[in-house]
Amino acid sequence: MSQLRFKVVEEAYDRKAIPVDIPSERPEQYYGKYVFNRAKMYQYLDKKTYDALVFAIDNKEPLSREVADNVAAGMKQWAIDNGARHYTHWFHPLTDGTAEKHDAFIEHDGKGGVVEEFSGKLLVQQEPDASSFPNGGIRNTFEARGYSAWDISSPAFILDKTLCIPTIFISYTGESLDYKTPLLRALNAVDKAATAVAQYFDPSVKHVQSFLGWEQEYFLVDEALFSARPDLVMTGRTLMGHESAKNQQLEDHYFGAIPSRVEAFMLDLEIECHKLGIPARTRHNEVAPNQFELAPIFEETNLANDHNLLLMSLMSEVARRHNFRVLLHEKPFAGINGSGKHNNWSLGTDTGVLLFAPGKTPQANLQFIAFVANVMAAVNKHNGLLKASIASATNAHRLGANEAPPAIISIFTGSQLAEIFDKLENSSKDELIAFGDKQGVSVGASQIPEILIDNTDRNRTSPFAFTGNRFEFRAVGSSANCASAMIALNAAVADQLALFKEKVDKRLANGEVLNHAILEEVKVLIKENKAIHFDGNGYSDEWKEEAARRGLDCETSVPKIFDAYLRPDSIEMFKRTNVFSDIELHARNEVKWEVYTKKVQIEARVLGDLAINHIIPVATRYQSFLVDNLVKIKTLFDENKSKAIVAQDLSTIEKISNHMRVIKECVEQMVDARRQANRIKSEREKAIAYHDNVVPRMETIRYHIDKLELMVDNEIWPLPKYRELLFIR
Ligand code: ADP
Ligand code: MG
Repeated sequence: MSQLRFKVVEEAYDRKAIPVDIPSERPEQYYGKYVFNRAKMYQYLDKKTYDALVFAIDNKEPLSREVADNVAAGMKQWAIDNGARHYTHWFHPLTDGTAEKHDAFIEHDGKGGVVEEFSGKLLVQQEPDASSFPNGGIRNTFEARGYSAWDISSPAFILDKTLCIPTIFISYTGESLDYKTPLLRALNAVDKAATAVAQYFDPSVKHVQSFLGWEQEYFLVDEALFSARPDLVMTGRTLMGHESAKNQQLEDHYFGAIPSRVEAFMLDLEIECHKLGIPARTRHNEVAPNQFELAPIFEETNLANDHNLLLMSLMSEVARRHNFRVLLHEKPFAGINGSGKHNNWSLGTDTGVLLFAPGKTPQANLQFIAFVANVMAAVNKHNGLLKASIASATNAHRLGANEAPPAIISIFTGSQLAEIFDKLENSSKDELIAFGDKQGVSVGASQIPEILIDNTDRNRTSPFAFTGNRFEFRAVGSSANCASAMIALNAAVADQLALFKEKVDKRLANGEVLNHAILEEVKVLIKENKAIHFDGNGYSDEWKEEAARRGLDCETSVPKIFDAYLRPDSIEMFKRTNVFSDIELHARNEVKWEVYTKKVQIEARVLGDLAINHIIPVATRYQSFLVDNLVKIKTLFDENKSKAIVAQDLSTIEKISNHMRVIKECVEQMVDARRQANRIKSEREKAIAYHDNVVPRMETIRYHIDKLELMVDNEIWPLPKYRELLFIR
């Protein structure tokens, strides 16, 4: 029985690092090799077409048909010169990951042969069948068409000899069926609202960009071991497995030396990233054994998000070359750290100012304080929605678990910013507010020294932290599409900034001086949004009680957390910012509930099968071995002598029996709970039923299997154990 386990352990153990094909050129030379960036555009397009395309990109304008045709011709030539044979519209449907449908460049030449052609029409728009993608009921059965349309702000690239064109994906009736469409809308909204506020300080500002620097955490598992775990193969996480004696308690993995097999993988991945224009920069071991991180230099949010999605598929591909499987699940192993995707986020003007970074002049600092206060207000007002934006069946195992951000959104500011806010709130003048010796701060109208924010002031327990010149949204899950969080955050901040502008304008109309008007409104924001500020230990139980008293959203059931999208204040906010219509919000929630149900359903099935087909038979075998042994002992010794031995063995046999009994009962109850849930029509109620009635049974089953793992003979245990999955590399 356990032969497979021992075979794969041996295979994994013997594995050596795979040599990496390192290019002879330096990264500077091959960076962006497979991206149709401005340098390639310049090379492959005539001057007029190039100028028209760049103008359209910079000014978010549509392309004329003629320009599109010329761009397509140039792009095709570049792609063919780089070995491409196919092209595809590459989009982000409401599933995990990306979608693509490849077409060869060929067209009939009218003489029985073919020519390689690519028209502007095919570049700009296509019609994939929308019915096979989640759409939450938007698509009527008689109108299956969906449109994918080129997002000119994200450059085309070549992946595996296919030209990939980043596109949005919408229904026939214009509703978004993807992540990119609402993300672009949210980025437009924040551009407009933040630009208007930034113009108080510098009228020459024309645009504000949103920046995203994600940090991708992941696990690596040897592919032989992975293949011997049906739960990892089917669900991406271990549904059972007792903690190994050693895991992360010695803290010897974090930032430790990177194992050579892993380092080869990382190098290979980085080279691929750089060729595709993904600015991968940082790599290190993470806290848990076999857990690692990759972070790029931050980029404009839409591009950064495309790059993250591309990275996730690259990772899986490159990992396989090195006989690894990459696990992007938020919680592949119980009892040790899960994986997140910290979203470092900031806003910056086209004049080069980062709006969450303190400046050198009083004006710059007033601007800094105003933007930070508005972010705090937006996050406070929409804390439930932001939680919903990162909630999923898989991230649920990480949120609220002990070592991860709790299922409550709060903001960590650090002591310096907190002090500034306190003083500001209590000062009656617009004048100078000076601080300690290290940092002088003033936000008034006078001559003030600069603010020096110490960004080493870190609190790892906060789900949303200010880190010197940006905010770090840490609650995002490692397998998530960052767009979900970025849509909610940028839209909420855009809406808040628009409101702020309205209020300041009213004061100006009443004859108030600009700085005074801004400062007064900032004070109001500070006073009204204190609830969201928390610098203490976010993992403590006291915080949960305190957060509830403050009125923060403390819901922990994922299907109910999704309700936040449909609350009137969320619907209004998304409407005002033009990010989602009512129909879109309702449809997307249907999809969220459905996906939740399906994920739990699949896990429950896999767990049930493993329990009944893998675990119970092995436990039965071991039990009958003990029974045989017992009988033999009895025949060998007289009753007096055998008494103690028999009592002990009997107790073990009884314990095994009990665990098996509970497992069998619970599997039956779980199947029954599923059956009942499946009859429910409403997607929301069905998801709630899965959450309330299926998940708890899965936990009980797992508990008893893990107990058996410690009792049953190691020789016959069928599944690779945690100590093997996590320590062999
Ligand atoms: P840590 O793990 O210490 O938080 P890392 O160096 O791993 O930090 O990652 C920090 C991430 O934040 C990087 O992706 C970096 O590019 C990004 N970042 C830095 N400054 C900004 C900014 N102003 N806006 C958005 N992202 C930023
Ligand atoms: Mg990091």
